[in-house]
Amino acid sequence: MSNAVATDLDAAIELAAQWVSEAERLVVFTGAGVSTESGIPDFRSPGGIWEKYDPRELTYQKFLADPAVRKLRWKMFMEMEAMWDAKPNPAHLAVAELHKLGKLRAVITQNVDGLHQDAGVPAERVIELHGTNREVYCLRCGARWPSSEIRERIAREKVEIPDCVKCGGILKTATVSFGQAMPEKETAEAVRLSEQADLMIVMGSTLVVNPAAMMPRITKENGGRVVIINLSGTEGDHYADLVVRGKAGELMPRIVERYKKNR
Ligand code: NAD
Repeated sequence: MSNAVATDLDAAIELAAQWVSEAERLVVFTGAGVSTESGIPDFRSPGGIWEKYDPRELTYQKFLADPAVRKLRWKMFMEMEAMWDAKPNPAHLAVAELHKLGKLRAVITQNVDGLHQDAGVPAERVIELHGTNREVYCLRCGARWPSSEIRERIAREKVEIPDCVKCGGILKTATVSFGQAMPEKETAEAVRLSEQADLMIVMGSTLVVNPAAMMPRITKENGGRVVIINLSGTEGDHYADLVVRGKAGELMPRIVERYKKNR
């Protein structure tokens, strides 16, 4: 086990709050675990939608080549009710509070659920490395729609594979699928922010999916501190300055409250 894993929770919260005070370029990095308390299952927990649909089988290449895969992917899209109805939880709200306090430079997220923005972090400060599930676009003409409109259309017209109403092209959610290139602009921006961060707080990510998982390592290698808040062990525990095991929705608000009290 990493030396940085906290055994005294109060002391860990105090230390993290002190580092927040000292930070001039604080970046928060989040994965699926930050949204589980909003009712959206992460990749690995049992009973989630990911048990039914394996995203590794729904690669970008298969999606383009095979209508049966597109049909399955749109079926999955329609079954993701947990994501449509989700509300920000105390972890998202605590991050937004850091923004209101002028302490947050940016959020880099692997999530596609838009909950950081719903909590009050301005969209331009949220770097979505894996895109967003809130929009659908045409791969041919580039037209975009809110996902809710496509959902309504699928339900209304009872279509299994919606095509672009403007040009007949293939529609896809604006998420980054397995086999699809990472968005260049967002990735470059995330690397830049990670290099410059003097504190990165990582929440709810196992830190196994690259290049997203590289970001805290980049911060560390450039002299910044790394704090990891996660229920289970992560691939970053061995180089982090502080690892706190527990729920993001409980720990992050405590860190922010302690920071406010100490100001
Ligand atoms: P992951 O599923 O690999 O890991 C999630 C981690 O969060 C686990 O280590 C788990 O122990 C931890 N965790 C779960 N609940 C927690 C909580 N309440 N507090 C603290 N930690 C908690 O997730 P990942 O590393 O983000 O990778 C999965 C991929 O799947 C990502 O690329 C992401 O884009 C995608 N995904 C996104 C969503 C979403 O947008 N909400 C949901 C599922 C998967």
